[in-house]
Amino acid sequence: MGESTVRIGLVLPDVMGTYGDGGNAVILRRRLAMRGYDAEIVEITLDMPVPESLDIYTLGGAEDYAQRLATRHLLTYPGLQKAAANGAPVLAICAAIQVLGHWYETSAGEKVEGISLFDVTTSPQEKRSIGEISIEPIVEGLTEPLVGFENHRGGTTLGPDARGLGRVLHGTGNGVGDGLEGVVQGSVYGTYMHGPALARNPQLADLLIMRAIGADSLEPLNLPEVEQLRRERLAAAAKG
Ligand code: GLN
Repeated sequence: MGESTVRIGLVLPDVMGTYGDGGNAVILRRRLAMRGYDAEIVEITLDMPVPESLDIYTLGGAEDYAQRLATRHLLTYPGLQKAAANGAPVLAICAAIQVLGHWYETSAGEKVEGISLFDVTTSPQEKRSIGEISIEPIVEGLTEPLVGFENHRGGTTLGPDARGLGRVLHGTGNGVGDGLEGVVQGSVYGTYMHGPALARNPQLADLLIMRAIGADSLEPLNLPEVEQLRRERLAAAAKG
């Protein structure tokens, strides 16, 4: 590991990481490597404190019980909160949006305190939302539609300090009737999209990378297979 190695934190993959969400860290490492940057994935498991010194953090989805274990750990070892306060980019998928909020209510009706990186709260929707989803981004730095797979019972309400990641084109998204999907607050990005999200949405991967290394632009990568995957998944989302 050189001094300029970009360190990607894969946070609690032992309890959070449904539908291959751990792949988001792999995509970040690969896209950095293709631009000539040394990059490594640092797995932060339940038996260790959360370091605050990494360059990017990713968290995956989880079912309710695993999600509670993760929440407790992040409250006990607030390295993620300190890193985000210093501007480190963070990607939070599905359950991780809920954990990063002020509180969330599980499907069983238990209210659990979160780590308040997002000004959001989550309560169960009437029905679980499952299926392909696509959105039109509404944040700076993203111009292309995003696409993923959602499976969640929670519906997330944004407070005044949080913004949506995009407007839902097809699917449910945050599920509280405002037409929004995902959350953005400072350098922290959340989405209900699995996929993994960064494999399907390279523009979001590069936005996180640019924030991590302090670049305004990155050398474009010509990956026709990624474009083909996007076309297929966007068409699948449109079909419903
Ligand atoms: N347990 C949460 C919910 O159902 C998150 C699910 C997930 O991350 N796939 O809302």
